[in-house]
Amino acid sequence: MPELPDLEIIREVLAPRLTGQTINDVEVVRPLVVRDLTLQGFAEVLIGQAFAGVRRRGKILLFPLQSGLTLAINCKLAGRLQYALPAERRLPKTHVVLRLSGGRELRYSDRKTMGQVYLTASLEAIPGWAEMGPEPFDLTLEGFQERLRPYRGEIKGILTRGRVAAGIGNAYADEICFTARVHPYRKRTSLTDEEIARLYEAMRFVLDSAIATLRERVGTEIQREVRDFLAVHGQGGEPCPACGSTISEIKARGRVTNFCRICQPGGLIQL
Ligand SMILES: [Zn+2]
Repeated sequence: MPELPDLEIIREVLAPRLTGQTINDVEVVRPLVVRDLTLQGFAEVLIGQAFAGVRRRGKILLFPLQSGLTLAINCKLAGRLQYALPAERRLPKTHVVLRLSGGRELRYSDRKTMGQVYLTASLEAIPGWAEMGPEPFDLTLEGFQERLRPYRGEIKGILTRGRVAAGIGNAYADEICFTARVHPYRKRTSLTDEEIARLYEAMRFVLDSAIATLRERVGTEIQREVRDFLAVHGQGGEPCPACGSTISEIKARGRVTNFCRICQPGGLIQL
């Protein structure tokens, strides 16, 4: 699942390349992901539009168009973007292809068909938009504490819900909990002020350093998801980089959680 650092790299790569280019043609291969909130016809409206930039909000990539409309992509679990020459092979399950004036294509593929490609005049019309928390780098420690307060459940679940801070998913929530030395299943109500401050610092540090690593590792190959550098997520059974004991892996509610029982003690595990 692309999360804030992955999407930030895609934004960085695409912004200078797409801005100013016109969409010459639109091919909707599989219409299931398309949400035309203008109700004027997705392809019909997009053809002839020029990109005004590329932005990101939480886990949503935004492609503002010079007309004032926005193309917004929520990749969900398996969405991928590809910026390629027409002759380059499409990723499996390519749903939408935009042919651009510069000769390249912007493609959206999605193995699980769970993502959405919106065309909208208003960002508020995107489902979930209003509920999104602030960007993690815009949050103060006081703001983070304040936003956590209404939630009483497990800290990992709170972080991934996106209402405290936007853009954190399953992988980076594991990394943040590990870096903060907080067990992912600890209840928010059991966390001390010091642990919450550690989570806040870890959130900023983990996301910031992941962006720097991905900038090097992904380069312009934005269709690649690089996760092998993470400390605990996806590393179940491997030695903990901090203490050397084996990283735990728990599968619950359809997702994997990785953590170190030694570095992150005290979680009451409820499956
Ligand atoms: Zn450890």
